[in-house]
Amino acid sequence: MSTDTVTRTSAHVVPPLPYAESTLAPIISANTIAFHYGKHHKGYVENLNKLVAGTEYAEMTLEKIIAATVGKVDKIPIFNNAAQTWNHTFYWSSLTPKGGGEPPAALKKQILTSFGTLDACKKELATAATTQFGSGWAWLVLDGNKIKVVKTGNADSPLAKGLKPLLTIDVWEHAYYLDYQNRRADYVTAVLDKLINWSFAADNLG
Ligand code: MN
Repeated sequence: MSTDTVTRTSAHVVPPLPYAESTLAPIISANTIAFHYGKHHKGYVENLNKLVAGTEYAEMTLEKIIAATVGKVDKIPIFNNAAQTWNHTFYWSSLTPKGGGEPPAALKKQILTSFGTLDACKKELATAATTQFGSGWAWLVLDGNKIKVVKTGNADSPLAKGLKPLLTIDVWEHAYYLDYQNRRADYVTAVLDKLINWSFAADNLG
């Protein structure tokens, strides 16, 4: 198999956004999405394709690359770009123009079991998102049969820790700075109230 074939068959792509760039406004502006999706996400995918071309990772899925490179000091750039590629695709689906509100019944039942109330779950997500020092992510995850909130720094992902992600909020400054400047908490609260895609999280329960 030629290198060209390996590279071509394994190239990662930026998946289409699940909605138009302007439809998350005014919570997240079209301008933010244009840069975040069109420049940042695309950049991670392009970097990943360059880094894995011709390597043992060239034909692996993102999940396999993440599992194979996590914790390896000489593979940090590959891990970072693979995880950021995965995280961003997951983030876009964690948002929806008519989000917020009530989770589907099966998910809500598990949220109530784990957190007591939906508000307590949202509050814990907001706290994780606002207290993540520097760049990173806040996540709702399934840990065994319990739903939990975790936060990760930079590109790190719950996937790398054996947890099953249900939804995520990107708290890198590029996710909110054009719209909210330093007010990360306002971005997080607005996302949780207006955009968060509980149906996507319910689907991920499996
Ligand atoms: Mn981002």
